Amino acid sequence: MDSLLKKRNILITGVRNKWSIAWGIAEAVHKAGGNIILTGQTEREAAEIHKLSETLNSPCSSYVCDITSDTGIRNLFEEIRDKYGELHGMVHAIAHAKAEDLKGDFIDTSREGFAHALEVSAFSLIALSAEARKIMPEGGCILTLTYMGSEKVFRDYKVMGVAKAALETSVYYLAADLGKEGVRINAISAGPVKTMAARGISNFNTILDTVRERAPLGRNVSQEDIGNTAVYLLSDLSSAVTGEILHVDSGFNKMGM
Ligand code: NAP
Repeated sequence: MDSLLKKRNILITGVRNKWSIAWGIAEAVHKAGGNIILTGQTEREAAEIHKLSETLNSPCSSYVCDITSDTGIRNLFEEIRDKYGELHGMVHAIAHAKAEDLKGDFIDTSREGFAHALEVSAFSLIALSAEARKIMPEGGCILTLTYMGSEKVFRDYKVMGVAKAALETSVYYLAADLGKEGVRINAISAGPVKTMAARGISNFNTILDTVRERAPLGRNVSQEDIGNTAVYLLSDLSSAVTGEILHVDSGFNKMGM
């Protein structure tokens, strides 16, 4: 496990704080020997993330990237190419919906709110992948984070469920485009984890309790559970896996009655 990602440059987006799923992935990638490159949405966040990375033995580079800006995305990958030469893996762990679209009924989702959620949470994967592939000359692995609210109705997830469905289908189409270049792309469908983004979902504690009560493993998932699966998907252990949505949810998605 210690050397699975040795000498691999892995870009990890979506670290907000130490509770972020992306931070759990960063810790696992670091443990597996990978060089971590982090991004934050603003200068302030990039600085905070850099500080957080100092808790690892070797602090890593952190860059600014707001994925709603094409120029910002292009600049990010130019900076990474200049400093690291090439990229071996990328983690997309970004999602956002407007607060008003996570309240009330789904049917009241605004045109603007729908476009915002889909752009930030799904299109961003396409935009980042299009730049990442250019600095993956030997192939690579891309990973994104999704949630079961794409498959079934979770009443409080609303427009994010639709955004995650678009994200998952984007994984299939990107896998078809990128396979010939040796670039694999997969998604982890994670069980609920208490993060900053999760705070925007009403009744989140009830979701956590339900998973604990009904999942085959009888517990919620940890950042470590997700991080370890991310290492598998970013490493050669998953060399023939692409276009896959892998549930890391204690088996919750398999339960009916
Ligand atoms: P988080 O710590 O709040 O991370 C979400 C990240 O997305 C934040 O760093 C956030 O930055 C970033 N982001 C939002 N808009 C952005 C933009 N325009 N440009 C750049 N970054 C932007 O929450 P998380 O739960 O770990 O979320 C990570 C991923 O896991 C998301 O895709 C989420 O849907 C997915 N996921 C979460 C759960 C869960 O239960 N927590 C379950 C399954 C899947 P700001 O804070 O600055 O907005």
